[in-house]
Amino acid sequence: MSQIQGIGVGRGIATGPVLTMPEPLAEPASIPRTTDADVEKSAVAEALEAVAVELDDRGARAGGDAQHVLEAQAMMARDPGLVDDVNQRIDDGSTGERAVFEAFEAFREMLIGLGGYMAERASDLSDVSQRVVAHLRGVAAPGVPDSDTPFILVARDLAPADTALLDLEKVLALVTSEGGPTSHTAILARSRSIPAIVGVVDADQLTAGTVVIVDAGAGTITIEPSSSDIESAELRTAELKKIASAPITPGALADGHEVPLMANLGRPSEAADALALGAEGVGLFRTEFLFLDSTSAPTVRQQREAYTALLTAFAGKKVVVRALDAGSDKPLAFLNDSEEENPALGLRGLRALRAKEDILREQLTALAEAQAATTADLWVMAPMVADPAEAEYFVTLAKELGIKVAGVMAEVPSLALMAREVAGVSDFVSIGTNDLTQYTLAADRLLGSVAHYQDPWHPAVLRLIAMLGEAGREAGKPVGVCGEAAADPDLAVVLVGLGVTSLSMTPAALADVRAELARTTLEQAKARAAAALAAPSAAEARSAAAAVG
Ligand code: PEP
Ligand code: MG
Repeated sequence: MSQIQGIGVGRGIATGPVLTMPEPLAEPASIPRTTDADVEKSAVAEALEAVAVELDDRGARAGGDAQHVLEAQAMMARDPGLVDDVNQRIDDGSTGERAVFEAFEAFREMLIGLGGYMAERASDLSDVSQRVVAHLRGVAAPGVPDSDTPFILVARDLAPADTALLDLEKVLALVTSEGGPTSHTAILARSRSIPAIVGVVDADQLTAGTVVIVDAGAGTITIEPSSSDIESAELRTAELKKIASAPITPGALADGHEVPLMANLGRPSEAADALALGAEGVGLFRTEFLFLDSTSAPTVRQQREAYTALLTAFAGKKVVVRALDAGSDKPLAFLNDSEEENPALGLRGLRALRAKEDILREQLTALAEAQAATTADLWVMAPMVADPAEAEYFVTLAKELGIKVAGVMAEVPSLALMAREVAGVSDFVSIGTNDLTQYTLAADRLLGSVAHYQDPWHPAVLRLIAMLGEAGREAGKPVGVCGEAAADPDLAVVLVGLGVTSLSMTPAALADVRAELARTTLEQAKARAAAALAAPSAAEARSAAAAVG
């Protein structure tokens, strides 16, 4: 038996045989074409169409958001500009395979040049290119391997086309060598409650057929476990099953200290599932998700309808809506129009809204109208706020336009460092630990090579959270957490110990967090928080908190 480590996502545990995802195909060699150009062109045309049809089919089988992603990929394979480019390269002497590879690369670089959301779609293009080359070579396309029996999938990272068709009955757990806690794989695993470990540097030790235990809670993969290891994993699985089916109660510590548990949502249609899992309200509604594809600003009416639908679903409950968080990884065509070298440090969040204040005013007006038409308790907050002056600007404007409760997200370290002044001007603060970690550790949250920095257990991040919790307590203002950190049950307890008053997360994580809070007193939470704060690194903060018991 040996053990390797990575970053665990969730607390699940699974035992089973490894199945590895085929490695990407080797790059087609750049050698002169010896065959007839027209023969090559028609083979490529046939391969492109076959791949497009296959992607459309997979999309139709998957349905939902996955269908849109796969149909967009099929459209890439049918793009007339791309086909012309391939044909031109064949005419210039390339082989069909090499022409496909180069034309897709050129397309990919163009998308990366556009930045933001378009740049993220660039990795989808590599996936389509590989499928076309595989077709031309007559080999299996890269992607999720087929199996009749359940398996643990080990891959470099998962592309949307792979995750769309993951058969949950078969995939016991996911292990990836790349990707961090905010990677596509991690988000998928969390939202579907699949145990996962990402960023496993030694994943090449996991060969097909080997039995392993994937323990996401501990972040460990045990290779060829003993029968007693398997037995204790089974016990843990039974325990987790019990937790998942435990009765839904309001979030509270063992001593009765209340910690409302809320949902992070991106669309009103997600409300029903969140309520069924016991969400006590919405702690973060990401409004920009509604308008990612819009080329012009949404109208007040269009927005009012969406917000009214959301607030109606949560009648009588608290709903925290975030003003459009555009820029960086989520550019909106109507808000972000300039090229930026470092978009995460650019005109994003409140900065972009302030530069186009009419759009912010319209959004706040639509929210005030939805508030007047429903019984939900609407709170509105601004993203990416840097200091008390910006907080005051937003809160004043929101109130002027009829919003009753207005606050800010704490995502930039400067805001946390001025927590006391911020609490003086804001009705509440909600900590976005994803960005707060990215900016505190100066590590791009989307970049696999620095994924290990993106760990909200880092004492530097915890100290900023403690400052915010303390300032909120002194001013009598609520301080919630709505980043991924709130979905980690052990960290959730530490956050409460640091003074956080509510937690908001992907609904699938609610049961685990509820159960962990119910096992811990406020005194214990504070002791774990103190131990974590004093640690020198994220890993040691985690073990110091656990050692307190
Ligand atoms: C965060 O940064 O923690 C957050 C909740 O916002 P988003 O993930 O949408 O940037
Ligand atoms: Mg954020």
